[in-house]
Amino acid sequence: MAGDLKVTLTDDQCSVLARYAQLLVEWNSRVNLTAIEDDAGVLTRHLADSLTVLPALDRILAGVPAPRMIDVGTGAGLPGIPIKIARPHIVVDLTDSTGKKIRFCAAAIGELELAGIRAIHGRAEEMARRPEHREQYDLVIARAVAPLPTLTEYMLPFARVSGWCIAMKGAEAQAEAEQAQKAIATLGGSMETIDTVALPGAPDRRALIIIRKVRPTPARYPRPSGAPRASPL
Ligand code: SAM
Repeated sequence: MAGDLKVTLTDDQCSVLARYAQLLVEWNSRVNLTAIEDDAGVLTRHLADSLTVLPALDRILAGVPAPRMIDVGTGAGLPGIPIKIARPHIVVDLTDSTGKKIRFCAAAIGELELAGIRAIHGRAEEMARRPEHREQYDLVIARAVAPLPTLTEYMLPFARVSGWCIAMKGAEAQAEAEQAQKAIATLGGSMETIDTVALPGAPDRRALIIIRKVRPTPARYPRPSGAPRASPL
């Protein structure tokens, strides 16, 4: 899997990833965490898809000694946990508004004995207003959380000025990026690139929308919980 993605992983990293996949499938049979339930689906659609971001992430974070990353709307820890396993030097916060998903993430972190990673229960709109999270991260990442005009309001307030956001998207990335132009500029961002990525074993197209934080986010953003989704910028 890693070879097909042009990503190098050690044997230890591969076994920790396999154990994480096993935990996800086990927990999913009792607690509804993800729609994808079988081992092959978890490997391709979750683990491999999460790791497609590594080349872009390595490029962006090159030279940052102990980078901080937040995964917004992480669900069962995706893409944050596979990234942490593959790039252990990154200090990771996982956050989600659904308690049972964060409980799974915390259990997985303990079970896999991962250090420098936390699972935090909360809504992005509220967390990004707290000083310990606002404009504190070198990289903000999200996969499958919301359309880009809404998602940028969740993500950009967390990024430090000169930091980055990566939204992991499907074939609709270009159209979403166009719709989000105003939101990105309003929130202090600048569109950098859209990288297309191939996912071994799956025909669908994937894209990484990469946004740079160039100015502080105005204090009125993010708006109160629910507003970014109900009335996108
Ligand atoms: N990122 C994971 C993945 O790729 O499998 C989960 C994707 S799931 C479709 C979307 C997740 O975003 C849900 O777990 C949901 O609880 C979370 N979410 C949606 N809006 C949120 C918000 N405003 N703040 C925090 N989490 C949110």
